[in-house]
Amino acid sequence: MTTTSSGQPLIVMDRVNKHFGSLHVLRDVDLTVDRGEVVVVIGPSGSGKSTLCRSINRLEPIDSGEIRFDGQPLPAEGRALARLRSEVGMVFQSFNLFAHRTVLENVMLGPVKVRKEKPAAVRERALALLERVGIANQADKYPAQLSGGQQQRAAIARALAMQPKAMLFDEPTSALDPEMVGEVLDVMTSLAADGMTMIVVTHEMGFARHAANRVVFMADGQLVEQAPPAEFFTNPRSDRAKDFLSKIL
Ligand code: ADP
Ligand code: MG
Repeated sequence: MTTTSSGQPLIVMDRVNKHFGSLHVLRDVDLTVDRGEVVVVIGPSGSGKSTLCRSINRLEPIDSGEIRFDGQPLPAEGRALARLRSEVGMVFQSFNLFAHRTVLENVMLGPVKVRKEKPAAVRERALALLERVGIANQADKYPAQLSGGQQQRAAIARALAMQPKAMLFDEPTSALDPEMVGEVLDVMTSLAADGMTMIVVTHEMGFARHAANRVVFMADGQLVEQAPPAEFFTNPRSDRAKDFLSKIL
């Protein structure tokens, strides 16, 4: 076969709408993310950023429109949905590690239990990932014995263990003490530099400026504007983006 899927965008959202009861949380959202692209999503609380992320791995089903991942419409159920969820790694504000498993076991669990991969091979990969996120020396500890920054890096390693095609980060540093934010952002910056396709919801404007290919500003369920960071931060076009930036910068 000479055809590959590599020429087309990895994530396509096409006129996506989502309601929670009478609340219209995603309004005609069109978003395309290319392979290797890093998109930072910013916007006020309640604007729909988390719902947007969660819709991409179908943690939130949408009401209308279409989402395609790697050329395929999102599967609704079954093995195809499980595969999608492993191909779209997600890291949340809360670290969500299994408390009664060691860090290494947390990282190994998905590949071994969900993918039925051989533990020996997964162990090698997991140790390499812990090395990569800088916590190889914590492998045999339990999550509660780690700092918040270390736990979040373990959560990133756990998502990466599934060898995802994209990573979604939903305010990954918001629950961290300030002195631990940098170590998590450093891991994300290095992932971005390695070519990972990423959607990152964050209030860390330094990260947005340096690591994003594109900043998307969301308000009231709509993508109000999108631009490369240099352009967005120096010359936001919409009043809502100007207002938002004036409050956080
Ligand atoms: P953001 O991440 O930008 O703060 P969210 O996507 O979490 O925004 O939420 C968008 C809106 O949808 C908010 O008004 C929120 O209260 C509401 N919402 C989110 N999840 C649910 C839910 N499961 N049920 C009802 N309303 C929800
Ligand atoms: Mg949110």
